[in-house]
Amino acid sequence: MSVYDPKSPRAEEFINHEEVLASLDYAKENCHNEALIDEILNKARLRKGLSHREAAVLLDCDIPEKNAEIYALAEQIKKDFYGNRIVMFAPLYLSNYCINGCVYCPYHMKNKHIPRKKLTQDEIRREVIALQDMGHKRLAIESGEDPVNNPIEYILESIKTIYDIKHKNGAIRRVNVNIAATTVENYRKLKDAGIGTYILFQETYHKESYEQLHPTGPKHDYAYHTEAMDRAMQGGIDDVGLGVLFGLERYRYEFSALLMHAEHLEAAFGVGPHTISVPRIRAADDIDPSTFANGINDDQFAKIVACIRIAVPYTGMIVSTRESQKTRERVLHLGISQISGGSRTSVGGYAEEEPECESSAQFDVSDRRPLDAVVQWLMKLGYIPSFCTACYREGRTGDRFMSLCKSGKILNCCHPNALMTLKEYLIDYASPETRQVGEELIKQEILKVPSDKIRAIALQHLDDIEHGQRDFRF
Ligand code: SF4
Ligand code: SF4
Repeated sequence: MSVYDPKSPRAEEFINHEEVLASLDYAKENCHNEALIDEILNKARLRKGLSHREAAVLLDCDIPEKNAEIYALAEQIKKDFYGNRIVMFAPLYLSNYCINGCVYCPYHMKNKHIPRKKLTQDEIRREVIALQDMGHKRLAIESGEDPVNNPIEYILESIKTIYDIKHKNGAIRRVNVNIAATTVENYRKLKDAGIGTYILFQETYHKESYEQLHPTGPKHDYAYHTEAMDRAMQGGIDDVGLGVLFGLERYRYEFSALLMHAEHLEAAFGVGPHTISVPRIRAADDIDPSTFANGINDDQFAKIVACIRIAVPYTGMIVSTRESQKTRERVLHLGISQISGGSRTSVGGYAEEEPECESSAQFDVSDRRPLDAVVQWLMKLGYIPSFCTACYREGRTGDRFMSLCKSGKILNCCHPNALMTLKEYLIDYASPETRQVGEELIKQEILKVPSDKIRAIALQHLDDIEHGQRDFRF
């Protein structure tokens, strides 16, 4: 039996099964322990985060008044750290060739009826121009694992192609990468190619389930997959994105283990995850979500989002178009800092004239609205859609990004950056109605920048943007 050690490089020690089970027992025993819950909430109010055990107690808490406090605190932390800004991004699927056997994904190797496609560099150009014409500045590239069809050289070439495309006023300023677990050497190559965050979902932290859900292919190796973020950090990538696919295992197990993974990165490398994603399993070709017994309902989903927000205040949280407009609306204020919009989840989906071929999508998109509608919706709800990529471009990654968060300078930095990038969006891509809503919002929100000096500079830049200049940042 392995022993729990957050600093250990071994998956079975930092995601220690016995420790997860002990945390679940502890949470269950204390779900009604008002004194302990108060103590944990008081600690959480210091905004320095919680341990996985403490957060597990909040997740299990079944006292209605205390749950109301949990939601209120999550909302307050979200306001304090992220204000009303929501960063926008889009996924870009490069290739659905895959040699793995993940049973919840239609791209698994045995699926013989799904059309396989890998974008050429010219096709990538078309996709990226379509994304730029929507207004996107930040992409997450996705690819199946296939060393023959999608070797690292293909990924690197594609990243270069994406960064090189300058079309009208458009540019992709940050490429995040979601590809299979790989070697330190390959992570170093990705770092050198200028990627933003390296994202890899664990899918499930439960080793036995993991091995059953990934019966074949290199992804079957639980330790290699779980230790991928360590190798990414050793390769110089200090912004990493975690996530589990809720629905595969019991959500309480995933929740504790996910936070243990965050604690491990902090303990071993001094910097926690940049983002956490909270996808839930969705229908797709060959995939029926009802065959997975651990699906979570909207209430459980909201509670997970709130508890993650409280447990790791400095970590961004992402919700994708897998979730409906209604669900996204429900969780935005509880702690979400990034969302995708106008997404296509098939290879080549953006440049297609016809709506995307459903049968080749990785998952069904629930929120199908175009980006303009999503931007307008967010603004009408009082959020600022942000196309900011400043930190990455200023070299504020890893612990430097964390120190920006921890120093409380966010309002003098993220806020004007959000407004300036929104202004670019409104002028270059928005519909007249969206532009009108946005201009009003900018007028009100610019007043919230605390520093007189920064506010004055931001106002000048907003005017410069109106007169054709682009790409200002703090
Ligand atoms: S989840 Fe990823 S690795 Fe698994 S089959 Fe789908 S594309 Fe391949
Ligand atoms: S300034 Fe940095 S942390 Fe703030 S929104 Fe921009 S990229 Fe994110």
